[in-house]
Amino acid sequence: MKYIIVTGGVLSGLGKGVTASSAGLLLQCAGYKVTAVKIDPYLNVDAGTMNPYEHGEVFVMTDGAEVDLDLGNYERFLRCNLTAEHNITTGKVYKKVIEKERHGDYLGQTVQIIPHIVREIVDGVKNAAKNAKADVCVVELGGTVGDIESMPFMEAVRLLGREEGRENVMFVHTTLIPVVGAVGEQKTKPTQHSVKELQGLGIRPDVIVGRSDEVLSEDIAAKIAFFADIPREAVISAPDVKTIYEVPLLFLEQGFPQLIEKRLGLKTKKPDVKQWRDFVDRISNGGEEVEIAIIGKYTSLKDSYISHEETLRYAGAVLGCKVKIRWIEAPDLEDSGSTKQLEGVNGVIVPGGFGNRGAEGKIMGARWARENQIPYLGVCFGFQLATVEFARNVLGLEKANSAELDPDGPHPVVDILPEQEGVVDMGATMRLGEHEIKVLDGKAKKLYGKDIIFERHRHRYEINPNYIERIEAKGMKYTGRDSSGRRMEILELEGHPYFVASQFHPEFKSRPDAPSPLHLGLVKAALDNKKA
Ligand code: GLN
Repeated sequence: MKYIIVTGGVLSGLGKGVTASSAGLLLQCAGYKVTAVKIDPYLNVDAGTMNPYEHGEVFVMTDGAEVDLDLGNYERFLRCNLTAEHNITTGKVYKKVIEKERHGDYLGQTVQIIPHIVREIVDGVKNAAKNAKADVCVVELGGTVGDIESMPFMEAVRLLGREEGRENVMFVHTTLIPVVGAVGEQKTKPTQHSVKELQGLGIRPDVIVGRSDEVLSEDIAAKIAFFADIPREAVISAPDVKTIYEVPLLFLEQGFPQLIEKRLGLKTKKPDVKQWRDFVDRISNGGEEVEIAIIGKYTSLKDSYISHEETLRYAGAVLGCKVKIRWIEAPDLEDSGSTKQLEGVNGVIVPGGFGNRGAEGKIMGARWARENQIPYLGVCFGFQLATVEFARNVLGLEKANSAELDPDGPHPVVDILPEQEGVVDMGATMRLGEHEIKVLDGKAKKLYGKDIIFERHRHRYEINPNYIERIEAKGMKYTGRDSSGRRMEILELEGHPYFVASQFHPEFKSRPDAPSPLHLGLVKAALDNKKA
């Protein structure tokens, strides 16, 4: 097993994830089996209870793990499915160690960060890599060198290097090269400091990836190489690019894969990036523009809906068009009492969400799309609220609502899942992960091209079976059901160009070469809407 450890210096948000996934993709294109582990040094056990406003989208994996959105990037770049063990958090590690201590596994010992916590981290990384049966495991260490939280993890990756052997573990350090002054000079000092800090922890970087506005000048690259004591070719430029998908191609031009292969004693193979290059061309070329509104609650932090954004891009690439997103803040829509903000869009997405704030705004969006024949895709909350809207305005059940929003209302058309009654803990207790869905005749079935599909879930509420007959009689059909047949998974509105919603989250399984069929259907319908 070979490991590539990616650390970050100077400040966070530099694109360690993109660095790690690009390196992984290039090795994958060279024929190696690659997997990824993301380390998050926070005390939450998982990302499930975190506010998307602070951390961005909560990504859900096949096994139901609720994880950091970086894991979504890995799944999309490496076109693979990862599991809970690929996201290691401080909370998860401590929980396990404390459970072991209570169980008596360390009987007689004083349980400490070193060696016990660090041991647990090293074993966690090794197990994830081994279970994925990978040749190479890319490990991204969240946070920045020098953070107190990341210290045990730094020690763990150092130990990993020691145990697995120098020839099997390499370190890639991503840092910022700021440009300052009137002449726009690239500065290496922050990088020098962070490399020194890393060295002080016993880690010698093998490659430095320098993030800057522009390509690093030759002088600057040579200077970094000198201070970090690495060859010049081990300093890689990562200038700003239009899309993150260009980064692997930039790394390839600079010989990054050969650098890794040499350092890790792998056979030099030429990565075949033709497919990836085609995808990048298609994504950058654009074509006709369609505009899709995303009505959400955390739209000022765009990463809150990153899987939808990426999926829409992929759908655009497949259909040869450019999808522009109009971000609509649901509480604003609600407060304004008008749908004016939506005018002119060719399609609407109401994504997943929780709670009362903005819910009425989302319902207004669903109604507007339904009444004006505008293509609509509802996901999870957007599926439930489309049902609420229909019950209110078509069935005439004025006070219809979701029990999540109005627990004592007369018409809970969306109700708590029976198995959720009495559940009090909030962490990892929803209906999560991949479940089978039977798809009945309709648009969704045509788009998927199959009648059995598997999609990922994250919800506590569902369509109340007592209302289904009445709703269907008025033309809203539930064309997707779980394997028992009693749980509704997809809805479609008859006589509308495209009004489709799902209880599951199709955006999580989207890949650059295979966008979610329901998003693809939406963009296709949006193109038709524009032409009409
Ligand atoms: N709040 C809704 C539920 O718990 C929808 C969840 C979601 O959109 N992910 O069922």
